[in-house]
Amino acid sequence: MAFASALHCRECGREYPIEPNYVCDFCFGPLEVTYDYDAIQKAISREKISDGPMDMWRYDDFLPVSRENAVNLGTGMTPLLKADNLGKELGLNNLWIKNDAVNPTYSFKDRVVSVASTKALEFGFETLACASTGNLAGSVAAHGAKAGMKTLVFIPADLEYGKVIGASVYGPTLVTVNGSYDDVNRLCSELADNNPWAVVNINMRPYYSEGSKTLAYEVAEQLGWRAPDHVVAPLASGSLFTKIWKGFNEFAKMGLIDEVTTTMHGAQAVGCSPIAKAYDAGVLHAKPEVPNTVAKSLGIGNPADAYYVLKILKEGGGAAVAVPEDEVGEGMILLAQTEGIFGETAAGVVVSALKRQAEAGVFDPDETVVAYITGNGLKTQEVVASSVQPINIEPNMEAFEAKVNITS
Ligand SMILES: *Cc1c(COP(=O)(O)O)cnc(C)c1O
Ligand SMILES: [Zn+2]
Repeated sequence: MAFASALHCRECGREYPIEPNYVCDFCFGPLEVTYDYDAIQKAISREKISDGPMDMWRYDDFLPVSRENAVNLGTGMTPLLKADNLGKELGLNNLWIKNDAVNPTYSFKDRVVSVASTKALEFGFETLACASTGNLAGSVAAHGAKAGMKTLVFIPADLEYGKVIGASVYGPTLVTVNGSYDDVNRLCSELADNNPWAVVNINMRPYYSEGSKTLAYEVAEQLGWRAPDHVVAPLASGSLFTKIWKGFNEFAKMGLIDEVTTTMHGAQAVGCSPIAKAYDAGVLHAKPEVPNTVAKSLGIGNPADAYYVLKILKEGGGAAVAVPEDEVGEGMILLAQTEGIFGETAAGVVVSALKRQAEAGVFDPDETVVAYITGNGLKTQEVVASSVQPINIEPNMEAFEAKVNITS
């Protein structure tokens, strides 16, 4: 049973019924799901969660839909791995990698889309749609296929091949738009106003974004029911980042973990870093920019949740870090060669931001640091292709000995 009771405006607090709606009629603030926390508190316990299914739906008491109806590809309960090799390199004794690159469509977006598609079915929609920087397109197309819905996905025309194929294979109507993500999103918002579609990150956004909270719940549970001292997570619209923070705090409010003292660090690539720039300037409003970054999944120049990210950083003492473009591929390679995890460009951004913060002495060596790897490197192979050099030989011993030096 779901404990979501209403939507409320994050700015003026006005309440709205649970409907496909995302913006306050009075102040244009974003809407968020309201829960009956007293009822959740009575229903929830560590034991109940531990006995739940081995996927994100074990936390359905904290989601706006219940697990019985879930459009579920088996998302969540991804590994939290102790990263001793990378930790050694960075002087960190308690570094952990949350590997969300191994979800069904190879990114954390399956969490948000699983919730949004379930809610869309509940509302009676027949078409599932999205504006995407790449990973969302694949996830929407896959969940739509599973749910038997029509799917319509819009992406910028210059996306990585792996993301285009990784979405088209599920059979959506895939539209590539000549413009940036922000152009795609604007077009999609206009279309959503005039068509009976569930656009997961527009009119379904309040439900969609709640799915990201499971990234906090899982880490808290996997660490033995506690929140980490530090989190490093990527920033695109900023939704994921704010919901990780919300998730830890909900668990604390329900008494499942102690008070949250986590410091949050957000990561962007310099070529699209409106939140990091606002952070550096000490302001709470990000100035929109035109993305020009190799980290295309993070290429949102006008991030919807920038203000809420900047507020968390201001209140919690965290930081938004912009990493140079050439450190994106370097971060991917560092993670792959120390921990055996091939993350996408967003992972490269996170690992390089983690490295920068470690080198700046931001972490105490024994503090628990969790880095979120949100997407799979097989979708963004172009970025590291030039640093991969196979050795080609004829099929005989002489050729092997002449050309291959295994000590190098
Ligand atoms: C979408 C995406 C993000 C960030 O998502 P927001 O919630 O918009 O900030 C991070 N990493 C990857 C790989 C993504 O696809
Ligand atoms: Zn309002």
